[in-house]
Order: sequence, then C-alpha cells, then structure tokens
Amino acid sequence: MIGYTLAELSRLLQGREISSIDLVKSCLHRTEQFNDELNCFISLFPEYALEQAKVADRLIAAGEAGPLTGMPIAHKDIFCTAGFKTSCASKMLDNFVAPYSATATGRIDAAGSVMIGKTNMDEFAMGSSSETSYYGPVKNPWDHQRVPGGSSGGSACAVSARLVPAATATDTGGSIRQPAALCGVTGLKPTYGRVSRYGMVAYASSLDQGGPITQTAQDAAMLLSAMSGFDPRDATCANVRVDNYLDALNNDIKGLKIGLPREYFSAGLEQPVADALTAALNLYEQEGASIIDIELPHTELSIPVYYVIASAECSSNLSRYDGVRFGHRCTDPEDIKDLFCRSRSEGFGNEVKRRIMIGTYVLSAGYYDAYYLKAQKLRRLLRDEFRAALDRVDVIITPTTPSTAFPLGSRIDDPVAMYLSDIYTVSVNLAGLPAISIPVGFSLGLPIGMQIIGNYFHEARLLNVAHQYQQMTDWHKQIPGGW
Ligand code: GLN
Repeated sequence: MIGYTLAELSRLLQGREISSIDLVKSCLHRTEQFNDELNCFISLFPEYALEQAKVADRLIAAGEAGPLTGMPIAHKDIFCTAGFKTSCASKMLDNFVAPYSATATGRIDAAGSVMIGKTNMDEFAMGSSSETSYYGPVKNPWDHQRVPGGSSGGSACAVSARLVPAATATDTGGSIRQPAALCGVTGLKPTYGRVSRYGMVAYASSLDQGGPITQTAQDAAMLLSAMSGFDPRDATCANVRVDNYLDALNNDIKGLKIGLPREYFSAGLEQPVADALTAALNLYEQEGASIIDIELPHTELSIPVYYVIASAECSSNLSRYDGVRFGHRCTDPEDIKDLFCRSRSEGFGNEVKRRIMIGTYVLSAGYYDAYYLKAQKLRRLLRDEFRAALDRVDVIITPTTPSTAFPLGSRIDDPVAMYLSDIYTVSVNLAGLPAISIPVGFSLGLPIGMQIIGNYFHEARLLNVAHQYQQMTDWHKQIPGGW
C-alpha cells in the first residue's frame, strides 16, 4: 500500500480490497520506522488514528463512504486540531491545545479521513528550510544532509518519503510550493480566499493560504475539493462557487496559451533547473500549447516588498503571545513588563524575533510611509502586472525555485540568502493568485519543481495543466531510495 496515490487508495478502499485499518497501520509503521531520522512529524496519534480507521471501515461497509473516507492524512502543525497539540513548531505554543479545529483541516477530517499526526515546519511558518523549528530540522528524503524546503517541510517530506499519501500545508510566500519542489512532490497554493483561514495560526493574514501537498495533481484536486468553500467564520474567505476540480483534469490542453516571464529566467537560476523547464515547455508545445513571452518588470522588487509586508503583519499577529492571552509564560516575573518581556524572549526563536523587529520598525510612526506604505503601493503594481499578463495568457510557467535543495545549515545564518530562496514564489502571494508546483526532473539526484500560475479562482485550470503533464511523464512517481 506504500506509494499508492489517494485516487488509487480510494478505489481500493471503496472496492473493499483493503481496509482503512490495515492502511493506517502500515502508514504508522512506516512513520515510526523513519521519523526519527527525517523528523517530519511533531506529533503522532496512533491510537486515535486506529479508532478513526475503524469508524471509516464501518462507513465503507455501510456504503456511506466518500472519496476520502479511511484515508491517512497528516496536517501541518499550524492548523488547530481540537484536543490535540498545535505548536506551530514554537516553544511559545509547546503546550497549546486548541479548543476548536481549523475549518480547512476540519473539513478533510469530516470527509472521513484519518489524522495520523501533525507535521514539523519552520517556527510560525517563517523560513524556507524547516530549520527554525523548536523541534529540530526536518531532512530531505532525497539527501538527508539537505533541507526539505520550508516552511511546510514536514508535510512535503512525509509525502515524498511516502509515510502518508497526502498532507495539508500553508503558503504565505511559497511554503507549499517551495518544499514540494525540493522534495519532488505536488503542492498547490490556492487563490487567496479559496480556503478558509479560520483556525490556521496567523503569520501574515493578507498572504496566508492553506492547501494540499500530494503525489499528483489528481490527488491535489481531491483534497482541494474537500478544503475549499465559503466559511462565515473567516471574513476574507470568498463566497465563490467551488469548481469540480476532478472533472476538469482531463480537459484538452490544445490551444493553451502559456506565458513565459523573462524575468524569472535570469541570473541566479541554476542551469539544470532551466533545462528541465525547457524540456517541460517543449512537451506542452507538442500537445498543442503555445508559448508567449510576457513581462513582469517589477519581479526583482517582490522580495523586499514581501518581507516588509509579511514582517509588518507578523509583528501585529504575534503580539498576542504575551504569556497572558496566549503562549509560554516565564517563571517568577517581577512585574507585568518583566512577564511580557521574558515570556516573549524565552518563547520565540531568533528568526521570529528578527521578523517582529523588522515589522515593528517598518510600522513605526517615522518609517511607515517610507517602508510599509511604499511596499503596499508596489504590491498593487506587482498585482496589476500579473493581471495584465493573465489577460493575454491562460497560465504562466516559471521555475518554483532557483536551485535544488541546499545543504542543511548553509543559509540559516544568512537571512538574505535564505529570503532569496523565495524569489519565484512570493509575488504570487502578493497578488493573491493560485499556483501549483509539480516535479519536472532531477539534477544530481535532487528533484526540480515547475510552477504554474493561473488567474483568480482558476484552480481547475492549473490542476488540468499539471495533470496533463503528469499523464505524459513519470517524475512524480519517483520515490527517494532507502525510504
Ligand atoms: N519563506 C517565506 C517566509 O519565510 C515564506 C514562508 C511561508 O510561505 N510560510 O516568510
């Protein structure tokens, strides 16, 4: 049962060829075997999972099952799960048990899936390598001396090593797509507002969006169908009809117009990544798609704009962790000031502190106009450029990352080098657009990812374009050796 996709497992479960209990047992067994080395889970819930599997098997036997019934799934430890620890990989929330569940993962659970555990990540989703976790770094299953990407590195690692068939994740500036690319799996960041943020611990509220990490685009369609839709408990959740993502997968791509932004193929892009993209584009052309040059001239500003806005929002969102309302509390405080100061100093790691300081600085009275306001204006400009481009083409194709997975420890002390890992992903969040990353090749044994960006709420189109590529290639079927 290891290595099967959600779609395949769903067929086997519905046909009663396998049981959920056996499937869950094999996932738990594999996870217990490999998690010590990979460190992709923060929590595991074997007893709960086996109970849920029993319930699922009864539903299947009664003919009351849906496509996700009995399916083992892992959730990123940023989604609140009632009754279970939600740590956000921070000492601050090391003992936090949420009293309610997030809408996005709650909907997947309600569809009958079985939560195996919660996955490791960068602390409060701040990072591109999953090294800032309070629980230690996650390893890349393709080379355990290298990072899996971040911040959803645990989810990408668990799917890549086939510990679970699929996982949930979140993306503020690339945290679904970048780890998916570095681990050789499929990751979809939906349109801002497609998936409810209720119960998802906030990092930067105008950018955060939950989505699936899976082996295939077809599986991403299955999970997105369950996660999507209006939620009155999130004021930014869009009341827009949810398309039938599975039906759209097999649409013809003849006549598809693919935009190619020159700015994404400049210095800094490793040659093997560029070559893999060229090969993928040739394949699309053979299938009747046309490639059109487009311009996104302000792309180089996306990193500074993103890090000003994301840090500003994080400094505001993280003010709630003061040892009183939420989070770790220091022992024996002298007074209220000492309580706030020491609780926050002890609870947050260095990267989170850096972001809070940058954010507080750019929002302060003397600098607001120079930094925050200017970043907001540039954000609008970046969005308008995407809009103009997407008037001319159906999708935009770019590399997901400039390089393949980098060695553990190589960028952790150089924040700017780390931030530049996100050069191809952050502008998509600034514009609020949907994008998917799929595997398109390897360089020296490490996976390469391709990003497909679409227009607002065109997830069905993205999944269709990704699925058609996966029908013609088998990069997504490669499994790291030894796992
Ligand atoms: N690496 C980016 C950051 O650190 C994106 C993280 C994310 O998408 N959560 O902010």
